[in-house]
Amino acid sequence: MKKTGLLIGGMSVILLVVFVIVLWPKSAHKDDSSHSDGKLTIVASTNVYVEVAKTVAGDKANVSAIISKQSVSPEDYEPTNDVAKKVAHANIALGNGLGYDAWLNKLSKSSKSTKLLLASDMLNKDSKANPHLWNDPDNMIQVAQKLADELSKKDPDNKAYYQQNAQAYQEKLKPVTDKVAELKEKTQNKSVFETESVYEYMLKNLGLNIVGDDFAEAVAEDTDPTPAVLKEVQNALKAHKVDFVVQNTQTTGGDVSKLVKLAKQESIPVVNVTETSPDKTSYVDWKLSELNQIEKALS
Ligand SMILES: [Zn+2]
Repeated sequence: MKKTGLLIGGMSVILLVVFVIVLWPKSAHKDDSSHSDGKLTIVASTNVYVEVAKTVAGDKANVSAIISKQSVSPEDYEPTNDVAKKVAHANIALGNGLGYDAWLNKLSKSSKSTKLLLASDMLNKDSKANPHLWNDPDNMIQVAQKLADELSKKDPDNKAYYQQNAQAYQEKLKPVTDKVAELKEKTQNKSVFETESVYEYMLKNLGLNIVGDDFAEAVAEDTDPTPAVLKEVQNALKAHKVDFVVQNTQTTGGDVSKLVKLAKQESIPVVNVTETSPDKTSYVDWKLSELNQIEKALS
């Protein structure tokens, strides 16, 4: 009997310890969502969204990226436990949506205090829309505005500040929107083939005809383009029905390399673009370098 009593007593101690360990951090987390400096915390899936968030939130928030290296593909990314914690402790998780950073949805849904903001929702995109939303500068300007509205709701005292910053972001992007308007004179009605549908929004802004978009979509979806689709693009390149090629250098493969090689053989200019921003390069510099290549390709 005594032995059993001791056992029960011992077990209660263990249970109490377990109880404290399991429950203590949870209750302590309640006021952990905004950090000790009183600032809001924003995590963003990629550098592009970090830049918007930093510009709009200014010194009122701590903003950090989940994926900051160009070598990591957002589509194939698998978050670690530390990242899960980071998202759970953030006030706002800002992402692209449309399956591009689906892991962010999952992580923020498991935390009651994290508000998930997706560019695809802010832009009212339907689920089949091309996910490479950042390649339309107007999309980014709208995201900045919507983010300013959200921050104004969370922190009404600084409403004017956030609104002003969203306006400043629009100004910041002016070199890109100006360049698009200027280039359009030259690109209107020209034809382009892109190896992956990463640049579709920009190409459409430039009034270009997109050749072989079934190929680009297949590559974006990680599937093999059908032989008929491949043939169609090969024929278009050989017949010089394409003025230039846009290659996503982060998505390569057998068929892509074959077509890029063919384009070069046919002396069709190849413009290199990337899916995620090159390290330490601003959105404006990144987009201008791509647009300048297009200008050169057509001169
Ligand atoms: Zn892509």
